[in-house]
Amino acid sequence: MKIKYAEMTNHLGSSAVRDILKITQGSDIISLAGGLPAEELFPVEAVREAYNRALAADGSALQYGLTEGYLPLREQIAARLTVQGLPVSAAEMLLTTGSQQAIDLLCKVLLDPGDAVLVEAPTYLAALQVLGTYRADIHVVASDEQGMLPEQLEEQLRLRRPKLLYAVPTFNNPSGATWSRERREQVVELCRKHGVLILEDNPYGEIAFDESPGAYPPTLAAIDRSLGGEPSVAYTGTFSKIVAPALRTGWIAGPRELIGMVAKAKQAADLHSSAIDQRALHELLQRFDLESHIRLISREYQSRMKLLSAELTSRNWEGTHFLEPRGGMFLWLSLAGHINTAELLPLAVRQGVAFVPGEVFYSARPQKNAMRLNFTHTRPELLPLAVQRLEAALTMYAERLPAL
Ligand code: PMP
Repeated sequence: MKIKYAEMTNHLGSSAVRDILKITQGSDIISLAGGLPAEELFPVEAVREAYNRALAADGSALQYGLTEGYLPLREQIAARLTVQGLPVSAAEMLLTTGSQQAIDLLCKVLLDPGDAVLVEAPTYLAALQVLGTYRADIHVVASDEQGMLPEQLEEQLRLRRPKLLYAVPTFNNPSGATWSRERREQVVELCRKHGVLILEDNPYGEIAFDESPGAYPPTLAAIDRSLGGEPSVAYTGTFSKIVAPALRTGWIAGPRELIGMVAKAKQAADLHSSAIDQRALHELLQRFDLESHIRLISREYQSRMKLLSAELTSRNWEGTHFLEPRGGMFLWLSLAGHINTAELLPLAVRQGVAFVPGEVFYSARPQKNAMRLNFTHTRPELLPLAVQRLEAALTMYAERLPAL
């Protein structure tokens, strides 16, 4: 039988990152490709205890749960967000299967085919995939190191009349960039003026390297709330980077009406996310010192980033440029203009190192000479070897040796 697929499947594509992860798994290739946290830092013992406690009470942790998610956990997340400057209640929040599902459900309830959506470039690959499946008309707003350019944004808002602006303004995946406070305020104000909802995707915000108070600007959602009136930012977060991705627990905080609509879509999608995982997280947050754990992993990630940065700097490859990220999990490396990192990748894999070519993070007009390097997953002692292998691949590239 010839299976007749829906039109949207033409827009699914395959994730280049997953394809690379497949090659590197189980091999001795050092992978700086995946966006994975450090496994050896997972709080395994605390998570084990949390599941035990969740199961010890009675059978209720194994029952169907609310579509919006386990209320005591929502209350804990709301309390954390409030401390972080975003005062929300549990009723303005819905738990999802990772923040990936939050992005998907939001796009599902907001977008008709052909609706315009504004994004940064480069931006999160899997968000581009979601936008593709809902057949969004994706437009880029140009940015500099401070964030989206307000004049460009205003022009795009007028020209495209978008329904949504999607951004990762803090420790961006893939660029590592963090928007300045001024730009954040300008973007929020402009989107409010034009009645455009912002989807602020913030999975990395708590992986912050600078511990001094006030080191980072507030989130777009916090700025938006401080202006009063109806919120115009849907804010997504996750436990994936601060506890463990396998728990698949993320959230959306946003206008009540939108949360209600997303709940309807979620009911149709999966009824609710795993109740046992939510119960375990609730138990974990009660007894485990999550804030100390976040500081611990952030310090370790910063030291790995510094190590990678020092190795790259000492190699001094011609035409290379990067900025040290102030948090998160990625360093964006631009190489000399003539180098195509998608063509470099097979040579790098042959040398025993993997990265993600920059071009996959663009909806159009990609920067082909950049790559995303993850510094959190690889053991620090292997980072110098990874850079050495990258150099060997660059030498092969320069000599135009045939690929695999
Ligand atoms: N947004 C961004 C920018 C990400 O990098 C990721 C993880 N790769 C996600 C959302 C989704 O993470 P999760 O579903 O694990 O919460």
